[in-house]
Formats: sequence, structure tokens, C-alpha cells
Amino acid sequence: MAHLHYTISPHSRDAHLFEVTLEISQPAKGAQIVSLPRWIPGSYLMREFARHIISLSAVDSRGAALAVEKTGMSSWRVATGKGATRLSYRVYAFDLSVRTAYLDQTRGFFNGSSVFLAVSGQEMHPHQVTILSGDCPNGWKVATTLPRTHGKRWGFGEFCADNYDALVDHPVELGEFDVVKFKACGVPHAVILSGRHQADLKRLARDLKAICETQIRFFGEPAPFSEYLFLTAVVGDGYGGLEHRDSTALICSRGDLPLPDDASTSAGYRQFLGLSSHEYFHSWNVKRIKPAAFAPYQLDKENPTRLLWAFEGLTSYYDDLMLVRSGLTDPATYLQQLGETITSVWRTPGQRWQSLEDASFDAWTKYYRQDENSPNSLVSYYTQGSLVGLALDLTIRTRTNNQKSLDTVMLALWEQFGRHWDKRGEGISETAWERIACDATGLDLRADFQRWLREPGVPELAPLLATIGVEWQNRPPQSASDKGGSWVEQPKAGNAFLGARHTTDNGQIRITHVLNDSPAEQAGLAAGDILVALDGLRLTPANLESRLQSYPVGSRVTLHRFRRDELLTSKLPIKTNIQPTIALRLTAGKPHPILADWLGLATND
Ligand code: ZN
Repeated sequence: MAHLHYTISPHSRDAHLFEVTLEISQPAKGAQIVSLPRWIPGSYLMREFARHIISLSAVDSRGAALAVEKTGMSSWRVATGKGATRLSYRVYAFDLSVRTAYLDQTRGFFNGSSVFLAVSGQEMHPHQVTILSGDCPNGWKVATTLPRTHGKRWGFGEFCADNYDALVDHPVELGEFDVVKFKACGVPHAVILSGRHQADLKRLARDLKAICETQIRFFGEPAPFSEYLFLTAVVGDGYGGLEHRDSTALICSRGDLPLPDDASTSAGYRQFLGLSSHEYFHSWNVKRIKPAAFAPYQLDKENPTRLLWAFEGLTSYYDDLMLVRSGLTDPATYLQQLGETITSVWRTPGQRWQSLEDASFDAWTKYYRQDENSPNSLVSYYTQGSLVGLALDLTIRTRTNNQKSLDTVMLALWEQFGRHWDKRGEGISETAWERIACDATGLDLRADFQRWLREPGVPELAPLLATIGVEWQNRPPQSASDKGGSWVEQPKAGNAFLGARHTTDNGQIRITHVLNDSPAEQAGLAAGDILVALDGLRLTPANLESRLQSYPVGSRVTLHRFRRDELLTSKLPIKTNIQPTIALRLTAGKPHPILADWLGLATND
């Protein structure tokens, strides 16, 4: 069989360069096309990784140079000579995100989609990889779920992926990282922590084990992988994650990890656990249960699908829910988080215009390319999708007297599409998801799907929550920083508000987004404006809120601002902030049986 063999090594940590070779034992007759993906699955934006390839040359088996010609933004034609073709190239790697590649004195990281050229026509062949230590110091190790064929665990060595799709779905971490091992339902798992930290490793292992076991049992043993890695880059300030079939690449802030001797759960740590839970859930929901648009991924162009809400939104719904079912978040805290999510969705002006299906389909050009008008024109298929998940779950539970739930639908999808994905490679068509939900639950949900997915607007959750014993409060915001979630017994009337988002820029207030129908819009503010004075008195980031409150509602106050270098003057109407602010709480007394089952609470009857 034709043979593909890559070697990769850190060529220069100082210049952030990986050196890669690719030997093609049987190149195509005449010329061989090779290419790099233009995007990475899980992150729906054309990123053009090929721009980081510095040099590319090729020789045949006798060492004679072969002509190399660029044929597209990410592809090359390499003349075929005598015998095998050997390509050599360098890749610049200095992006700290989980999406590309990174190399410096402290660590290395790469996704195959940034470093391994695909060989046209041979994508389904086995892809062999040798990871060499290059200019790394002694003590550097290798962490990846690429199947190993030679070398010791955590050592440099040889690996082999079944095909190109697999090759680019196992990211690799290099460095002197910590390894925190645990087993979940008997399957080896490890957290790889690279970067400086003082985290409580035992606690991390214990908490992640609880989440992983809850999820494996949710979909049913055995787990769909034989090992799993959380590849975690710890930095001063960072957040992000990308899912893969047997691993995830995460970036987190040092301060979010728990310290030894501190049993409390900070908001930052809960966010880290939520992120880990999210990416882990994707091992089932998007890496194996897939939309047809991703089966297979076409890495040379956008792969739009109207189903992203089901893969990102429902994964967002389950990520925090799994923390409750694992006992890591108590129901009151969960309801607070839910209240914050509902508040943020309700306050998004774009929910009046964009449906969830449109948000999914246009992710490539809208959600991933946000600008100053995005809050007015978009909804997030993550947060709004998670609320549709909640609406769907509670609707199914109440209409079937808790005999069925969204869990039933997820399990049906897993049985039909996920469990055998490795063999069948079949994805869900754009219309099949809804049909399977109706079939699995025995309910006619077509009108609900029409309203929640194809029309703008937020699902009505208050009546559904009331049915299972959760009270709903919609109150005025109690301060400019009130993001909802907390119940207020006797809320006061809202404060005056600007209705614009801003940032502090050199000690000045710089407007970043102006919300539709807000006082800021009525005063003519635009993104980029620097606020100077209100009523002739200087405005600062520290006094903006209190100054706004000092004028009576209904009055109009002179506002000075700079747009570029021009001073503009207008009247700001002083209005009460009536933006929705949602809080939830449990009704007193014994939990409703549906609620207890939904949150996985132990009941005593
Ligand atoms: Zn996700």
C-alpha cells in the first residue's frame, strides 16, 4: 500500500519554527497535489493555516529537486520524479490559541491541520508520524492521543493515524508538563497541565473523574475512546477550548484552577469545569454524532449547517447540567447560572431578527466575524441554543409525564448515528434531527421546532419552569453590573442607563457597541466614540454610572464626545433601565419529581 510518513521536530524554539518532512512513497503520476486545511473543525472560520508555511521544497528518491508550484491559497502541485517524493517545509508557530500551533522556549503545541499537508487522493491511507525532539531540552515530553506505534508513553516516538481526518484530530503538546492521571469507568484519562501553576492536582482529578463518569454513563458504557486527554495550557489570562475525538485542547487562567487546601469552588473554577464538561460532551455530540455537513469535513471550504444549535447549543445546555448531575454544582447555583444565561439572551437585541437556524448557518460570516453591530443583529447559537435545549427538555418531560426527555433524544441519536460512526461515517441530514426527536419521544414537536428554530425570539421558559417548581423573577437591573441570576426580594426601580457597551482606553471611556433603541443610540453615539463630559463636567470610567444617576429621569443632558479627532455635542435622554433581568429559585418544599430527575437529585421515596 502507498505509504505516507511525516516527521516533525521543533527546529528553532527561538524562531518559533517546526520543521516537517513528508515522504510520499507512491506520488501521483506526473504531479502530486498537496494542501493544508483552510479551517479547523470546531472553529467555524476560514483561517488559512497555509500562510504560516515558510518554505516548501521537494526532492525525489535520488535527491533530485522537484518543481513545486502553488495552485491555490492552500495547495501546491509537486512534480513527480523517480520513486518516492520527499517534501520539506517549515511552519511558523506562535499562536497561543487552541486552534493552530505554538512553539517557544517553554512549550510546543500543534494541531495537525496547521502542520501536516494532505496528500490528494491518499487521504484514506494510514498516516505515519515521527515526532522528534529537535532543539528541545532533555526532559521535554509528548502528550497526544495519536495512536503510538513506537516509543515510551509520554516520550518522543512514532505514531500512526488511520487516515488524514484522524491525523488532524489528535493535537500534540510538547514540554515539561504535569500529568494528572485518573480512570473514568475504567478508561485511562489524564489532564496535561503546561505552564506555571499551583493547582490542587488531586482535586482536579477527582472533579473531572466525576464529570467524565457521569457523561460516559449518560451515553452508556463503554466510552467511545480507549483513552482521553485534557491538554491544558495554563496562562495568566486566557480561556478557550476545542474538541477532538479522544482529547480536548484547553487554555485557562492560572487563577481559575483550585489551590491546595481550598475546598471552595470559585466562579473561575466552575467555569473551567464547565468548559471541560463542554468539550468532553462533544466527544459524543459533534465528533461522533455529526451533521451530514461534517461527514466528512471538507477542509478546503466553509461547511455551513443549520444544525449548529444542536451541536453547540445542546452541548452548552448539557455542560453545566452535567456538573449538577455529578454533584459538583448545587441546584441553587445552577439556577443562578441559568438566570444569567436567560438574562444575556433576553437582552440581546439581535434575537428580534435572527433565528437560531440562521445563526447556525451564518456562523462562518457572522458569529465568528463579530463587529460593533453584532449584539443588534445576531443571536448566539451557544446561549440561545442552550435555552432551546432547556425548553425542549422540559416540554418533553411535562408532555410525557417524565417518561421521556431530551436525554431520550440524545441517546436515540447516539444509537442511530454516533455509536457506529467509525464504521459508517454517516451524518444527520438537516431535517433528520427534528424527525428523530419526534420519533424518539412519540410527541409532535413540529410547531415547537418551527417557533424555536426558524423564527426569531426566545422560547417561553417561565411557564415550563413553573410546572416543575422553579419560580421566575423578571426585575429591573439593580446596578449597571447586574447580570441577573440572583433573586432580589424587593427590587428597586431601574437606574438610568446608557445602553452602550464600553471599554477603558487610556483612562477614557471608549464606546464599543451601541444597542438599538437605547439612550446612547438616541444621543447619536457610535462605536469608537470617546466620552468626554456630561453636562459640562468631565466623565471618567469611575464616575460614569454615578453621574448618570444624578439627573432626573426624563431630562436631557448635554453630552460631549470625540469621534476620531472631532468634538461632537448632543443631548443624552435620561431613561430608566428596563432591560430584562431574570432570576430563578426553587419553590419551597419537596422538589417536584420532574425537577429531581432532571437535575439528578436523590429522592427519598
Ligand atoms: Zn462547543
